[in-house]
Amino acid sequence: MQKSAAHIETVCVHAGHAPDAATAAISPPIHLSTTFERGPDGSYPKGFSYTRAANPNRMQLESCLAALEGGSEALAFSSGVAAAMTVFQALKPGDHVICSQDAYHGIQRLLRDVLRPWQLQVSFVDTVDTGAVHKALTPATKLIWVETPSNPLLRITDMGAIAEVAQRAQVLTVCDNTFATPVLQRPFDHGMDLIMHSATKYLGGHSDVAGGAIVTRTSNAFSERLRLLQSEAGAVPSPFDCWLILRGAATLHLRIRAQADNAARIARFLVAHKAVDQVFYPGLESHPGHALASRQMCGFGAMLSFTLRGGQDAAMRSVAKVKLFTRATSLGGVESLIEHRASMEGPDTRTPTNLVRVSVGVEHADDLIADLGQALAAA
Ligand code: PLP
Repeated sequence: MQKSAAHIETVCVHAGHAPDAATAAISPPIHLSTTFERGPDGSYPKGFSYTRAANPNRMQLESCLAALEGGSEALAFSSGVAAAMTVFQALKPGDHVICSQDAYHGIQRLLRDVLRPWQLQVSFVDTVDTGAVHKALTPATKLIWVETPSNPLLRITDMGAIAEVAQRAQVLTVCDNTFATPVLQRPFDHGMDLIMHSATKYLGGHSDVAGGAIVTRTSNAFSERLRLLQSEAGAVPSPFDCWLILRGAATLHLRIRAQADNAARIARFLVAHKAVDQVFYPGLESHPGHALASRQMCGFGAMLSFTLRGGQDAAMRSVAKVKLFTRATSLGGVESLIEHRASMEGPDTRTPTNLVRVSVGVEHADDLIADLGQALAAA
């Protein structure tokens, strides 16, 4: 069977996972060697010279990620923000970037505090409003950065509409697909040019490895530039990090669907709870992006957030009372996490102070609901 014709479940298990050619080991060996022997004629007989330029474990991970997203090539990095940084560094000082105004706060901080001083022009725009994106275009605009569903309000941007605007203006588009994963959302099918991941989240899936990735729809001058920056700027993941993310990817489809099922049940429980003001989960019919998410995604993911009627104090009190959920930032692991988001994001946050963000894990939904129920009694 052609790999490209395989279903996503099969791709998760098999892409980048061939038995080791030297030993027939099913689990890939971890290649710690930083350097590789040259032939007498000065050639590199296996194609590897130095680990920063290329490493067998990184190549396996990259071929898996490219297959998962249906892209031409993937580039792995030491973290999600390192992947994002590489995309921005591939632009030139003076270029203009439009970024979702509710993209992950770390990406916004990177643009504001690191790349603006480097003379990148940046506009934070409500990308849910395609007209606002159109209006924000300038002759210098080179890239539109979209995060959908967004963090932490789970707002849904219409990727097809943004891609149309971008194509007319000859501007590149990037989708941060961290929340949805390639199992639930296919940004290339909606015209996006690049996909970014924090592999620290669902791809790794066990809260034990940091990583990032860029997947390109086509190989071109821009992807060549990304490849150059990957090896010359050097924000590459270790061989063991690559091995862990590749292992995580094999069960991605099972985890994200189980987690999304749990999240849907928790969202419905929260909607009916008297201490809760609003629930932000695109699977709810009341969510303003529900219809679009139903068209654009094939599942609504496992991230949700909610606000408390009792304000910030009630949010803090409830989070303090959880027993099964773990109070921690990040997301995408098998364990459920909960956090008071605004205090984590810091003083420049736009997040409502009474908002609680939840990353739903693979535990039994009844146990998670019981824990939230007893914690919300404190609200
Ligand atoms: N994108 C999203 C949606 C995230 O949630 C995060 C981290 O939380 C990142 C990017 C950055 O990834 P990393 O922490 O791996 O650098």
